[in-house]
Amino acid sequence: MEEADITIVGAGIIGLALSASVSRKNRSVYVLEKNDSFGRETSSRNSEVVHAGMYYPKDSLKARTCVEGNRLIYEICKKNGINYKKTGKLITANEQVELKEIERLLHNGEDNGVSGLKILSEREIKHLEPNVTAFAALYSPDTGIVDSHNLMRYFLQTARAQGAEFIFHSEAKAIQKQNRGYQVSIRDADGSDFSFLTHILINCAGLNSDIIAKSAGIDIERADYILKFCKGEYFRLKSGKIRLIKHLIYSLPDKKEISLGIHATPDLGGGLRFGPDAEYIQRDKANYNVEDSKREHFANAVNRFLPFVEAKDLIADTAGIRPKLQGPENGFRDFVIQHEEERGFPGLINLIGIDSPGLTSAPAIARYVQDMVEELI
Ligand SMILES: Cc1cc2nc3c(=O)[nH]c(=O)nc-3n(C[C@H](O)[C@H](O)[C@H](O)COP(=O)(O)OP(=O)(O)OC[C@H]3O[C@@H](n4cnc5c(N)ncnc54)[C@H](O)[C@@H]3O)c2cc1C
Repeated sequence: MEEADITIVGAGIIGLALSASVSRKNRSVYVLEKNDSFGRETSSRNSEVVHAGMYYPKDSLKARTCVEGNRLIYEICKKNGINYKKTGKLITANEQVELKEIERLLHNGEDNGVSGLKILSEREIKHLEPNVTAFAALYSPDTGIVDSHNLMRYFLQTARAQGAEFIFHSEAKAIQKQNRGYQVSIRDADGSDFSFLTHILINCAGLNSDIIAKSAGIDIERADYILKFCKGEYFRLKSGKIRLIKHLIYSLPDKKEISLGIHATPDLGGGLRFGPDAEYIQRDKANYNVEDSKREHFANAVNRFLPFVEAKDLIADTAGIRPKLQGPENGFRDFVIQHEEERGFPGLINLIGIDSPGLTSAPAIARYVQDMVEELI
């Protein structure tokens, strides 16, 4: 049977960043991707925001990888000519009571190592963003936006130059534990099946990562790895009003911290998008439709801080689906990044529940997993 040193399932931003970190000329690294190219799922259906890291609990993987990933993404972009913009971000408070929460985020961010955070008064906000209405705001200078497609392409090219092989149109269908690794069976575009043995298997399958873990033999119910799908839709501003703001503008996250709330994101193409909202959906009904009937709701949500937006200015844009471990009634869940040796699966590394800030965290997650791999190889 053909053998590989390392197999990565999934060529989203996580699998790509990881392939660039673990590939070497003297190693066989395969990346399996069921679609015909890289980054066709969640990694190309997001806000492209490079988060700074003030939301997540101290010492969580989300906090640590976000803060490190923020620095790494800007470094990579600068060095390799990838488009990005450190726009800065305002998290707005519209009532006195919200000020407490803004202060909590400031302290949490500082504890996480986020630099440059400060609270702005109404007058300072007007100076920075004359068209934004807010009573106070948390200013984060290191939040920005990135051309995520070219960032993914950079990781792909780096990995390929180091000998990694990308096998598109190939879906990992079955995984069987063997003495020296895992037998992976894949199905290609014309329906034919093929099996090989891999010594290390890294599961970066995004919305399918719990299914991949299950097919390797993990009891995903017991491990609490079952994903919930949480859809987020976007609307785009179609009028000349797009020039009215320069920063990313957010309100406070929703109380259950399921999402960061509908925000305004100026994109690198000069447009302005609003979203994503957050709606748990059934897995078997997953789709990327954007409901035009939500225009009014989106306009109302952003009117709290952008009073100039009217429902008639909005057109339906894209949607994405968050692979969440946190259900609608649960509290914060961290990323699962786990070498499954203790569960009896040495050489299997699961990455599950990589929702936001997964894009930002990707290069730091790649380093974290690389350390695990170097100990195993
Ligand atoms: C609406 C929304 C907004 C977001 N905004 C931001 C943001 O602004 N900033 C930020 O940092 N993060 C953001 N995120 C989070 C970020 O997009 C994700 O964390 C990140 O893209 C996850 O990348 P991934 O590689 O794990 O998953 P994916 O991009 O989904 O990649 C997984 C890949 O695995 C492949 N795959 C699945 N099953 C198989 C199989 N059996 N065989 C072979 N291949 C398989 C899939 O085809 C896919 O290409 C947002 C997410 C959403 C949904």
